Amino acid sequence: MAESLYDLTRDELADLLEGEPRYRVDQVWEGLYGHLREPADITNIPKSLRRAVSDLLPPALTDVRQSVSDDGGTVKFLWSVAGGDMIETVLMHYEKRTTVCVSSQAGCAMGCGFCATGQRGFSRHLSRGEIVEQVIRAGRRAAPRRIDNVVFMGMGEPMANFDATWDAVHTLHDDMGIGARHITISTVGVVPGIDRLGRADLPVNLAISLHAANDRKRDRLVPLNRTYPLSRLAEACRRYRTHRNRRISFEWALIEGVNDTPTDAEELAAFALPLAAHVNLIPLNPTPGWPTRGSSPDVVEAFALDLRRRGVNTTVRHNRGTEIDAACGQLAARHHTIGRRRESP
Ligand code: SAH
Ligand code: SF4
Repeated sequence: MAESLYDLTRDELADLLEGEPRYRVDQVWEGLYGHLREPADITNIPKSLRRAVSDLLPPALTDVRQSVSDDGGTVKFLWSVAGGDMIETVLMHYEKRTTVCVSSQAGCAMGCGFCATGQRGFSRHLSRGEIVEQVIRAGRRAAPRRIDNVVFMGMGEPMANFDATWDAVHTLHDDMGIGARHITISTVGVVPGIDRLGRADLPVNLAISLHAANDRKRDRLVPLNRTYPLSRLAEACRRYRTHRNRRISFEWALIEGVNDTPTDAEELAAFALPLAAHVNLIPLNPTPGWPTRGSSPDVVEAFALDLRRRGVNTTVRHNRGTEIDAACGQLAARHHTIGRRRESP
């Protein structure tokens, strides 16, 4: 894969711009990461240097389409990357904050049947630059608002692409000023990845996609559970908590008649309470390849109440951008279906 604009370290950039004084390299760096400028718009460096950076380091993401939700609060970006794969990024404006949801892989190999990305299968890992560029391009779109939070909840399993994910986290933190506590990595339960995250040098948030708290059910919903069953996942969570005094979140997509009964709430509470974990509930978003629906709002509320009564810290997450297929688990870059939506250039 050719190196793109955001793939180089500062030293590698200095090597590439051989002969330029260090302060010039720093200006380029600050322009790219601090001010989210395109090389041609870094106006405090000579034009020849702007051109050199543009020529040597092309962007990794090619704009295919942007879809905007009816209320304007959610923007979905569809990009093509080297090799021709499509990936997606979602920008979400809330009243007081702005969040970007990034993809870490083109597709995903984990095969969760309810997830559009899982249904599509795996193409390849994304590089650090391809991950970072998603935040930068969304950040330009968000201006004058700044990006407050980055969540690795787009396409792909970040822990299966740990090195590039972690390099990207460092760039977001070190060069773009996004605090570690404003960065969340979501995993389906890759135990070695959870262990690495526990020992890593930045205290980012960990979210684990649980969806079922007994192995029989979780084996069906999340095939990786056959490799890392709940007992091993719980041990990894305990180890994580001894390294980091941070609250873990469990994501639970409520699926009608599948994992939304009082027994499910009881099992979830029994799993979450000893780990002092927070639970995020979200009704399953519809995807083309999965017949079961999300739980109704009444059932979601009853499930949340049940968990709270049992002492579990619980939040209900509301779907964002479902009408533009921009909600959790809906990202699969089905290019042809996006054309029906309201678009912006
Ligand atoms: N691979 C990682 C991160 C990307 S998925 C993971 O699985 O955690 C981001 C979140 O969306 C996960 O919690 C995932 O379980 C959830 N998700 C997937 N498909 C969904 C759907 N159809 N409806 C609601 N949430 C879904
Ligand atoms: Fe991959 Fe996460 Fe989707 Fe499972 S839910 S297939 S791990 S992206």
